[in-house]
Amino acid sequence: MKTVFSPRHLGHSSQLELVAGAIVPGFELPSRPKFVAERIQAVELGPILEPDVHELSTAAKVHRQDYLDFLPTVWDRWTAEGRSGTALPFTWPTRGLRGDVPPAFIDGLLGYYSFDAGAGFVEGTWDAIKSSHDVALTAAGIVQAGERSAFALCRPPGHHAGAAFAGGYCYINNAAVAAQWLRDNGAKRVSILDVDYHHGNGTQEIFYSRADVQVLNLHADPMQEYPYFLGHADERGSGEGEGFNLNYPMPFGTNWAEWSMSLEDACSRLKAYAPDVVVVSLGVDTFEKDPISKFKLKTEDFPKIGARIAALGLPTLFVMEGGYAVEEIGVNAVGVLAGFEGA
Ligand SMILES: [Zn+2]
Repeated sequence: MKTVFSPRHLGHSSQLELVAGAIVPGFELPSRPKFVAERIQAVELGPILEPDVHELSTAAKVHRQDYLDFLPTVWDRWTAEGRSGTALPFTWPTRGLRGDVPPAFIDGLLGYYSFDAGAGFVEGTWDAIKSSHDVALTAAGIVQAGERSAFALCRPPGHHAGAAFAGGYCYINNAAVAAQWLRDNGAKRVSILDVDYHHGNGTQEIFYSRADVQVLNLHADPMQEYPYFLGHADERGSGEGEGFNLNYPMPFGTNWAEWSMSLEDACSRLKAYAPDVVVVSLGVDTFEKDPISKFKLKTEDFPKIGARIAALGLPTLFVMEGGYAVEEIGVNAVGVLAGFEGA
């Protein structure tokens, strides 16, 4: 399996986040993909390629143009106010406030274009976002050209990013852009299977009223876990999209025996939808030792995820999402890929 990866993600580093009342160094560390890439080489999964540069025209079909226009300007707007550190929002247009008028000042804009304080900007953030987007599209091209699978080693991740908002370490929704590109390049139907510990709220929002992209999400119950405000089982799509969004919320402490039952059901629904290609939002923060998560999957479980997805017999694009137990992220993410390969 070919992997696509860009060193340009490294500029997105030293960003801060707000956790349990404290401003702390972000968990979404630049070392994360390094451990994955090292593991790919150790098990000889396949070559690691640099991405081609892609236009944002496909991204503009799943994101709002004004949001895509805003992202590259954040750092300049922030430093123009004499600031450094991490550009973070602190005010959001929640119930009772107006969410339809973008303010002019940077603090207002950051709140308008986000849903939490989990997607800060430093100097290299936009370049990292763009390279991650390019990684996803380049890997999508490998699958579209006829290979059985490819791995987009994206950083930053994407599945919390909606049509016009960042959050949860995510800015551009790489899996959504890849799914759209595959639709535009021959696939009649695409399924996105999101196995990250957290609900992929952005992916759900983007495709919620569409029938051409099925979205299946396995995740911690939003009654207990981030992102809290989406991901319930009764969210099944709307309009033409009715029935094409499926959520599998699970409680804290979920282990393989329980989690794999949701995977089995999701795979049977996916098979019935008969997509031309599968996009897997691959988060490995379901791991028992993940520092910000509360599921109980073990290292030996991850290859079984890959094997089950392989049994669908469909072209498959893996897109890296979360996973924060930094050293084990390599073993576990590549465990899924090697399981898919039958290794
Ligand atoms: Zn996650």
